[in-house]
Amino acid sequence: MTKPRKEKVLHTRVPVVLEEELKRLANALRVPVSNVVRTILEDAVQTVDAVQGRAEDELRDVADRLHARRSRSRDAAPATQTEPPLAAPVAPLAGIIGYQPLLLARDETCTLCGKVLPAGQQSYLGGREVVGPRVLIGDACLPFSAAQAVKPQEREDHDNE
Ligand SMILES: [Zn+2]
Repeated sequence: MTKPRKEKVLHTRVPVVLEEELKRLANALRVPVSNVVRTILEDAVQTVDAVQGRAEDELRDVADRLHARRSRSRDAAPATQTEPPLAAPVAPLAGIIGYQPLLLARDETCTLCGKVLPAGQQSYLGGREVVGPRVLIGDACLPFSAAQAVKPQEREDHDNE
């Protein structure tokens, strides 16, 4: 069932401690170190895929819930203030430590609102310390504090203080 796959050799530097750990693991499993490395890499890629899939599912769930809630409040006369407006967008931004301005080379969609971000437009790429689903958002969805941090106008004000 395994389809023949083209294999390439990847050279990479790793810290001595990591190399020792990999060798110890390989010894314990009685397999070559390269097998251990390949298995770990394949697992990591699968994990990222799974996490991405889950994030998409969560976004869809949130959208469904919001839609249901909106049609319910439309039926039930005046809109109540009990809806937590920030609950929905928080999950996709979990783990983001900053936003990097990014001039788009192609059309993309905003991770938060799903609106098209056309090529040539400034968008913001969420940066993480650890691997996670990509976060790319437009101006409109940039959290307030981050929007302030990247406005040159604001920065100049700070310099004058
Ligand atoms: Zn957006």
